[in-house]
Amino acid sequence: MRRKLAAGNWKMNGLAADLAELDAMKPAAATRQTDVLICTPATLISRAAEAVSGSAIAIGGQDCHVNASGAHTGDISAAMLADSGAGYVITGHSERRVDHGETDAVIAAKSEAGYANDLIAVICIGESLEEREGGQTLDVVGTQLKNSTPDAATGANTVIAYEPVWAIGTGKVPTLEQIAEVHDFIRAKLVERFGEDGNAFRVLYGGSVKPSNAQDIFAVSNVDGALVGGASLKASDFNAIIEALD
Ligand code: PGA
Repeated sequence: MRRKLAAGNWKMNGLAADLAELDAMKPAAATRQTDVLICTPATLISRAAEAVSGSAIAIGGQDCHVNASGAHTGDISAAMLADSGAGYVITGHSERRVDHGETDAVIAAKSEAGYANDLIAVICIGESLEEREGGQTLDVVGTQLKNSTPDAATGANTVIAYEPVWAIGTGKVPTLEQIAEVHDFIRAKLVERFGEDGNAFRVLYGGSVKPSNAQDIFAVSNVDGALVGGASLKASDFNAIIEALD
């Protein structure tokens, strides 16, 4: 059985005062059979890791450089994330694909940089509205999955997050049938490529997950949890999502 994962992505949000939200998430995380992850901005990782120490909450980064070190002003390596206390790293979020022109090949290399530092990679894939309306969803998702996921990926070192770009931060959510179609497709592709281990990868849904829709989404086949943006910033919302997963 795959352990469910409730993952929060704070994006470019969070100052020291917001670490109190992590404290308030501890009780919900502790009583559940699910993994709980918060990906804070890099500036907060070490303090967040300290704040959750001894609790069931893991901390992650939101991106890493492909290289281990060097002349890359402003960038952060996977080794630095791990050294700060991160256990996970998000790679290939659509905001990085769009804002920073990240390609599938770069995302695969970043994921490998994560593995080299014992970080679990949360690899994000998902179609744009134009691609959805053009009937290209499975083609786009299949290509991103194939090319963003390294050959070294396993169910233990990798989580896949399906995030339709048009559902992120918009309040728009695909129908449960649409979610099922893509998640079943991703599962089939993982098994086709990785054999039995393809069944061990957690596949998260992301895009406007809220306390009000979490339970229905989590009941969909092959949905092993969620990658949550806006609703992960406050413990009051995120705790309800953790509870819906159980
Ligand atoms: P959202 O973001 O929950 O705010 O839609 C999800 C994400 O981008 O990971």
